[in-house]
Amino acid sequence: MDGNLLGKIIISGILECLTGMHIGASKENMEIGAIDLSVVRDPVTREPYIPGSSMKGKMRSLLEKALAIDLGIVGTTKRRNIGTRSNEVWIHVCDNEKDAFSCPVCRIFGSTGKDGGKNFPARLIVRDLYLTRDSVSKLSDIDTGLQYTEWKFENAIDRVTSAANPRQIERVPRGAEFELELVYNVEDKAHIEDDLKNLKLALDLLELDSIGGHGSRGYGKVEIKYRTDGIRAITVDYLKNGDSTKIVICNSLDDLTNIKTLFGV
Ligand SMILES: [Zn+2]
Repeated sequence: MDGNLLGKIIISGILECLTGMHIGASKENMEIGAIDLSVVRDPVTREPYIPGSSMKGKMRSLLEKALAIDLGIVGTTKRRNIGTRSNEVWIHVCDNEKDAFSCPVCRIFGSTGKDGGKNFPARLIVRDLYLTRDSVSKLSDIDTGLQYTEWKFENAIDRVTSAANPRQIERVPRGAEFELELVYNVEDKAHIEDDLKNLKLALDLLELDSIGGHGSRGYGKVEIKYRTDGIRAITVDYLKNGDSTKIVICNSLDDLTNIKTLFGV
């Protein structure tokens, strides 16, 4: 509860787009005559990327829904508007550190205290996801008139007047692969098993949902391919002294035996 650190669990792999993905850029960045809805890009390389915040927010929302009944947060009690008055975004956030400590969602994803309640910093870090070098070279070759992306034409028809509202949406093409890295801070060994199970649940749910906009229309289906030996658990002793007995490497989050042994659970 005091923010002590026992170690880190690093999960790495590849996130592949199985369908075209649209994570929108802010409209302020758009040029005149540009595509209607453009994707977010690295300002230096101009390569599209997935902000860690987008992925983390989606994982949080999926886990929150899956655990809503267990948490007793169905309805709007224990939910807070983190959007604006005109664009409301209601999510579950515990009001204080003590509640967050025993909450499976806020414990992983963090909470901001309300009315003097202290913040509970997130235990999970989701890095920004950049295209693999292989994907950059493949996407450099596509001929769509856009850099690394495709555009999709969509048309909505007014049901009464039959007026059309055509628009072009920029997408990262299917098959694009991004480097994935998640870091979970081990702060309380009693929570390791539950937190990692919930983290895995959020990642499994993500594959059955979508990332980015227009998911209900087929966009943003992803698959996570964990690297062989892609899960590393290290203790603070390993970081301080390089003690090689204080690191374990696993293939999946399905069997946590070695990780639990490492932290003495
Ligand atoms: Zn909570």
